[in-house]
Amino acid sequence: MKDFGRDLESRRRVLKGIGAFAASVQLPGLIGCSEPADPPPPADAGPAADPQPAPAEQPRAAPAQTAAPAGSMARLSEDDPQAKALAYRHEASTVDAAAQPRYQPGQVCSNCALYVGEADAEWGGCSIFPGKLVKGTGWCNVYAPKS
Ligand code: SF4
Repeated sequence: MKDFGRDLESRRRVLKGIGAFAASVQLPGLIGCSEPADPPPPADAGPAADPQPAPAEQPRAAPAQTAAPAGSMARLSEDDPQAKALAYRHEASTVDAAAQPRYQPGQVCSNCALYVGEADAEWGGCSIFPGKLVKGTGWCNVYAPKS
């Protein structure tokens, strides 16, 4: 025959022990939730917390030249990738007007607003092709009339 009273007392002790154990144990997940995300910096962090000194100011690059002395510049080649992209031709009269609808007869580099050179010079600078000379009789699809 079983002793139910003693059995019940034994269960109570076990449950009481489990409760005490659970109350004393801190689960890692609970610990993580209770800590602040970013601890505040120490009040006196010393020299390590000082901001980095500003780097020495670098000399500024010279502004892009739009026109170098004509004697020091190479002539633009029609095969230059940028020249090709802009349909540059040394002779405006050879421009394929069907392919270049902006082209109008009479438009040449020497009367273009972007031409940097003497109007009667054979070759001159161009703002679109810095460091290169374009031919006064040339043309590209960026042509803009002088005002
Ligand atoms: Fe000639 Fe004007 Fe074109 Fe320069 S921008 S290549 S000056 S047409």
